[in-house]
Amino acid sequence: MTEATATGPMIRAAEVNKFFGDLHVLKDINFEVPRGQVVVVLGPSGSGKSTLCRALNRLEPINSGTIEVDGKQLPKEGKGLAALRADVGMVFQQFNLFAHKTIMDNVMLAPMKVRKLKKTDAYNTAMQLLDRVGIANQAEKYPAQLSGGQQQRAAIARALAMRPKIMMFDEPTSALDPEMVQEVLDVMTDLAKEGMTMFVVTHEMGFARRAAHRVMFMSDGEIVEDTTPDDFFTNPKSDRAKDFLSKIL
Ligand code: ADP
Ligand code: MG
Repeated sequence: MTEATATGPMIRAAEVNKFFGDLHVLKDINFEVPRGQVVVVLGPSGSGKSTLCRALNRLEPINSGTIEVDGKQLPKEGKGLAALRADVGMVFQQFNLFAHKTIMDNVMLAPMKVRKLKKTDAYNTAMQLLDRVGIANQAEKYPAQLSGGQQQRAAIARALAMRPKIMMFDEPTSALDPEMVQEVLDVMTDLAKEGMTMFVVTHEMGFARRAAHRVMFMSDGEIVEDTTPDDFFTNPKSDRAKDFLSKIL
């Protein structure tokens, strides 16, 4: 890594626009995620949060604008794209674990395939990570044998196994039973404390208040507010944010 890329923001999005047909879902999106910061994205359903997440690692192509990860502009296709995706860990609402593989195999797979780790190294790393998210004793089970909270923690371990530069979460607790939400948020909070750069779409306002360095509020494809959690929750500027907060708080 060069000096220049090691000091700039981890993510830089400039003038990003995205259409689905006639539907303008990302409108002139501009923001940066500095290294080691946690940015929480809030906003009503349909405001473009998931599309933005997917655009950030090119699961979704954009129509115009630029996105840089760690100082490198996202390539359109090919090898660079695989490398980029390896740098961006993604955790989705649905855990997306491979159902026919054990938790251990789920975590070992990508590091061996993409990072070319030897089996013993991949195993040791996976075990360390499963221990870190509190499910080392579930390593030989299959996803369906785990609770939703355990599966989501396994999904986080799997993403971390690639040693990503940034972790992106798209409503990681929205599919969980209420009693399992906190165990996943605790893992995320630990990650944040360890200095992981994080981009988190969530409806968990407690997490946003406690863990976020910044809150971005999206509405109708725009970033309407981008400020500290304290400022956002106590002093929302836009009518759209005030309306959103009045419905959820
Ligand atoms: P959010 O995650 O904030 O709920 P999304 O990014 O999922 O919002 O969706 C933003 C808008 O884009 C919505 O109007 C949604 O219906 C639309 N949309 C999302 N994915 C597609 C798609 N693959 N094709 C067409 N429209 C889509
Ligand atoms: Mg979404």
